[in-house]
Amino acid sequence: MAVYIVVFIFGLVIGSFLNVCIYRIPRKLSITIPSSRCPSCKTPIKPWDNIPVLSYLLLGGRCRSCNTKISLRYPFIEFLNGLFYISILWKFGIGWHTLIYSLFLSSLIVITFIDLDFQIIPDIITLPGIPLGILAGAFLLPDPFLRSSILGIKKSFLGAFTGFLLFYLIAISGSAIFKKEAMGGGDIKMMAMVGALSGWKGVFFTTFFGSLAGTIIGIFTMLSKGNPKDTKIPFGPFLALGALITLFFGQEILSYYILLFQRY
Ligand SMILES: [Zn+2]
Repeated sequence: MAVYIVVFIFGLVIGSFLNVCIYRIPRKLSITIPSSRCPSCKTPIKPWDNIPVLSYLLLGGRCRSCNTKISLRYPFIEFLNGLFYISILWKFGIGWHTLIYSLFLSSLIVITFIDLDFQIIPDIITLPGIPLGILAGAFLLPDPFLRSSILGIKKSFLGAFTGFLLFYLIAISGSAIFKKEAMGGGDIKMMAMVGALSGWKGVFFTTFFGSLAGTIIGIFTMLSKGNPKDTKIPFGPFLALGALITLFFGQEILSYYILLFQRY
């Protein structure tokens, strides 16, 4: 039990850092200097006002200096990251993979919120993520879809290549059909990273669940806003959701389907 509390608090603290990354990376600011400050009045935030989730509650969701409302998103991201870390611990236990999956889910959080805000998926996360993912996939992960590998690196590399190729093909066919860029280069690099960590089956699962979620949300957005042409929906958050589902349930879903097909 104690280990879960420690891991949860660690997740909150890293979550606080993710908020900094989400704000600063797309604005091309340093993620280390200067220290955190209020986005509205630029007053540096005191360390005791910067405790994840808790400070937000104690300050009633407002900046101590200028009283501007602080977005609920900040404590939400901290909480979400903490929740992800204990879920990983619960599902996969302790090992190198705990660290790799935590890093993976944290990077998905950053990708999701930057993509929602700016419609970009920053290279600074996905590009190092590809070789790191291949190395981790090959040597450290008891991964859902990499486990049966004779040579882990082959499967990890194949996964990255599948993610790249599939989304490259979607991107070029999308721009040929719609005469405009439907899928960005960021999605391609993101899926190469996802593939490195989850193998080629993981790429297809992620794409399937991501598209399913995207379709459902897309229909709701169209219904509520009327004109679908004006609403730009980034795809990165859905792919992140797909990757999350694949990581936690991919193996179970696959085994279920294999059983199902064996029956007939
Ligand atoms: Zn302020």
